Amino acid sequence: MSALGPVMLGGIGWLDALDVLVVAALLYAGLRWARRSEGALVAVGIAIVCAGYGAAAALDLKLTTWSFQGVAALFVVVLAVLFQEELRGAFEGVAAWALGRRQAVRPKLDTTHILVEGLLDLARRRVGALIVLPGVQPLRRHMRGGVQLDGRLSAPLLDSLFDPHSMGHDGAVLVDNRRVTRFGVQLPLSRDGEKIDGLGLRHTAALGLTERTDALCLVVSEERGEVSVARGGVLTPVAGEDELAERIDGFYRETLPLARRRPAWQRLLLEERREKAAALGAAAALWAVLIWRAQPLDLTLEVPVRLENLPAHVALGSVEPARVPARVRGPRHLLLPPHGVALLVDASDAGPGSSELRADAGDLTLPEGLVARPLDVSIRLELGVPPVAAR
Ligand code: ATP
Ligand code: MG
Repeated sequence: MSALGPVMLGGIGWLDALDVLVVAALLYAGLRWARRSEGALVAVGIAIVCAGYGAAAALDLKLTTWSFQGVAALFVVVLAVLFQEELRGAFEGVAAWALGRRQAVRPKLDTTHILVEGLLDLARRRVGALIVLPGVQPLRRHMRGGVQLDGRLSAPLLDSLFDPHSMGHDGAVLVDNRRVTRFGVQLPLSRDGEKIDGLGLRHTAALGLTERTDALCLVVSEERGEVSVARGGVLTPVAGEDELAERIDGFYRETLPLARRRPAWQRLLLEERREKAAALGAAAALWAVLIWRAQPLDLTLEVPVRLENLPAHVALGSVEPARVPARVRGPRHLLLPPHGVALLVDASDAGPGSSELRADAGDLTLPEGLVARPLDVSIRLELGVPPVAAR
């Protein structure tokens, strides 16, 4: 009966939900990007410029507003140039996600074999090395720098990458399934004073990353010629070939089925929930204020019938019907009660007894912004002689 239901919910469809989701995804991407230090500073800069523009517009500073608008296009180009790399990364990320590149493929058995062989050889020759095997959680956020590579894993490739004479030997090498995807990567350092006491940077970095993620780090010490494995923020030296192979195999056994069990849609729901919820909330709020409130809606309102110009010498018996359905269109916030729409019927010609009056859309009282659809109703009036006059 109440028109509130349709006004609140009417016209919200799955396309609106999609609308909100797309904006939420953009906000989430922006949030993640801004959280990285360089991005954060730029985001603050952009916010200040936007606030300046908003203030100028609010104060109606015409020349200032005009200047802001004039340089806005230039500003976008400058940002695009400054953040070429980030934008490329973002689009690559979208493409990789869409193509499902990070599908968990169980590595061929030779991955462990190649790693063990390569690491032990490096250890024998006292060449320092740091290899990261990603788990289920994304690592990108924790890594800085490095050089992209998409090479098939092999012992000679590891050898070349960690060769102390090579440009890229500093930092970590990322091995994703059977491929070396990046080298020269900087990992976050552990800040756990107790654990890192007496450790160099390479081992501290292995601890740092594994404290923050479920990755496995394999470290070769150039000083001691020994191999260690870090996982979950615990660094342990391994005694020999078999133990190393078992650690790597064990990691794959645990992680890959997990990655496989957790399809993309689950990762979408489970990872970084707080940020996603914040982005979704902000997008929904923006949508409610900017789109939903102003969205024009077609609605049938039950509007009251009011008589105008009732002759003085008659008494009102009844008005039938007392309310009529009227179809109106307008922005949602004008349709929320009390909307003030009524049908004004001119009763100046009605005499005692029953009479029939016609009314159309032109007789509706409409707040500005609402438009009436055609209407044609007849109203039956019962009028009598007032009791006072009858005596
Ligand atoms: P080693 O036992 O091999 O000497 P260590 O733990 O003592 O290792 P350092 O001697 O400090 O470590 O090794 C320095 C090397 O560690 C650098 O040359 C670089 O390759 C690597 N490294 C330093 N910081 C990082 C980092 N944040 N992320 C990845 N690798 C790093
Ligand atoms: Mg050292």
